[in-house]
Amino acid sequence: KEQSFEEIQAVRRSLPAYKVRHDLMRHIRDNQITVVIGETGSGKTTQLAQFLYEDGFTANGRMIGCTQPRRVAAVSVAERVSKEMDTPIGVKVGYSIRFEDQTSDSTKIKFMTDGILLREAMIDPLLEKYSCIIMDEAHERSLNTDVLLGIFKTLLARRHDLKLVVTSATMNADKFSQFFGNAPQYFIPGKTFPVEIIYTNHPVPDYVESAVQKALDIHLSTPISNGDILIFMTGQEDIEATCSTIIERLTEIYTKKYGANYEEQLADVQVLPIYSSLPADVQGRIFQRQEQNVRKIVVATNIAETSLTVDGIKYVIDCGYSKLKVYNPKIGLDSLRITPISLANANQRSGRAGRTGPGIAYRLFTHDSAMEDMYPQAIPEIQRTNLANTLLQLKSLNINNLSKFPFIDPPPSQNLMTSLYDLWALEALDNFGHLTKLGRLMGAFPLQPFLSRVLISASQYGCTEEMLTIVSMLSVPSVFYRPKEREEESDQARSRFFIPESDHLTLLNVYAQWKANRYSAHWCNSRFLQFRSLQRAKDIREQLLYVIRKLNLPMASSGSDWAPIRKCLCTGYIQQTAKLSGLGKYVHLKTGMDLKVHPTSALFGLGDLPAYVVYHELLMTTKEYINVVTAVDPLWLMEYSGIFYHIKRRKEQSYQFGL
Ligand code: ADP
Ligand code: MG
Repeated sequence: KEQSFEEIQAVRRSLPAYKVRHDLMRHIRDNQITVVIGETGSGKTTQLAQFLYEDGFTANGRMIGCTQPRRVAAVSVAERVSKEMDTPIGVKVGYSIRFEDQTSDSTKIKFMTDGILLREAMIDPLLEKYSCIIMDEAHERSLNTDVLLGIFKTLLARRHDLKLVVTSATMNADKFSQFFGNAPQYFIPGKTFPVEIIYTNHPVPDYVESAVQKALDIHLSTPISNGDILIFMTGQEDIEATCSTIIERLTEIYTKKYGANYEEQLADVQVLPIYSSLPADVQGRIFQRQEQNVRKIVVATNIAETSLTVDGIKYVIDCGYSKLKVYNPKIGLDSLRITPISLANANQRSGRAGRTGPGIAYRLFTHDSAMEDMYPQAIPEIQRTNLANTLLQLKSLNINNLSKFPFIDPPPSQNLMTSLYDLWALEALDNFGHLTKLGRLMGAFPLQPFLSRVLISASQYGCTEEMLTIVSMLSVPSVFYRPKEREEESDQARSRFFIPESDHLTLLNVYAQWKANRYSAHWCNSRFLQFRSLQRAKDIREQLLYVIRKLNLPMASSGSDWAPIRKCLCTGYIQQTAKLSGLGKYVHLKTGMDLKVHPTSALFGLGDLPAYVVYHELLMTTKEYINVVTAVDPLWLMEYSGIFYHIKRRKEQSYQFGL
């Protein structure tokens, strides 16, 4: 059921932030920087920007900007606020996330990812378009939030008329105040209810299975009117497994109990997944209110910890893990890892059960492991990921002396060094750590440095048309659709697109055929291709083309000759190269790590594997898999192995890159 405008206004007026509105606005008016603290659901994200707007903060022609660490949140919140203000999205209220801009000349309130604002600062270092910036969800300490905080430190001194509001859950708030010279804090008083926390007695062997059992127990043993269930999982895979197992088990139970009428009974639950790559309209369903006699079971990533408030939750089930990007500076690689959450995160998750009444949180880990294995606070992203992209942006902002940059928590110096080496190896930096001409061009693309390098090289190799397509296809969720029940059929369909020894060229081939079929949705469906992903790739391609034109890079097509494309890939994938080391096995050239070809690759199962490959992705599960792989000529790699030789030498001499 959609909420009516009147209902929405009534909800607004009931929010804790609304009740302190005038006091809060007075604080913001009286101070350049305010740290606003409030429980999740108190109305920080949806109300603050509206209050500022209604108080005339856009009367001078400037905008109110509100940053979010997550794409999904930026979109969802913008949609909610435009509904509350009764205006269509993309006009007065808009959002901007990478490759998707829903704003116009008349936009007054702009929600965006923190990455977008950082890019804007590269073009407009004083952020002249804004009268006020709300840095929302700052406690998440995303990489870009941390960098922006550092930038604001000098920016605010140069623009006395710019207001900064930093919003945070209770954790970390003091840190933000201190960072900005004891900036005042404003607490939004809020009511929360007690939540009983129940640990398992023994470690659980399989948290998906345990979560399913717990959810079924609750559902079958408590009245539906008690409230809904929120399950925290790590990502798309275990979320989908949890959802489908719950439905399977319930079908079994209800069939036994009610025979042929089981379907009517099944209508008393709605199982809803939520993760970032889920289409927006599906995500929106978690906010819709259910009939009285239907129970919602929401299965979410840590996005539901603080970013999105789901109302009506009485029970929380917490698997105790989340997926984190972790950088290993020794091998110089980022990977997604399932990692135990921190205690602060566990408490945020539990808190979701106490919003509308007393609740219960089931933790699928033992009390001992919580006390012994969990950090009190999560490690900020800046201390655990590759910084090449960030450093390229800082250098583009002419911030060269990184040791002087006011990081709220500085990254480990080894991370800084390896990330600088990565940029140097891509020839974005010279021997003194200064941005090269190439590096400046690379910074103009909203892409990882190795991908922007490949795109720029393409103009030398005469294959810009093709590389634009490949890079766009690499920037969207997989275009190949592989439903569980029809794996074999879909694998066959995929293999019809294979180009020998190259997944990159296979992606190019898929796109070219789709184009030849006039970008048809129907054509995709019958070939197990995700129309949505392809459409997005097309859209991204246009945006990247726009950047290429703006930079005056020559456009060319290599036609039916694929060699230039493979060669060109080598210029960017210099760290992602592997050499055949035995039957079906590769070793990572830089580190000697063993790698296997992923089963979805065009190279998987080839009797005669190419001796050298570059790869796009490294998946760390129980084994290390490489995915999106292309065979290359060892001669082309000569140049880059020369580079590695120098890197080694430089390391030995502990060359400092101006650090
Ligand atoms: P905070 O940022 O303080 O955590 P929010 O401003 O996000 O709080 O949320 C305030 C209230 O608005 C919550 O009760 C939440 O349920 C409601 N709300 C937010 N987004 C939506 C939405 N898309 N649909 C319905 N209700 C929403
Ligand atoms: Mg919020």
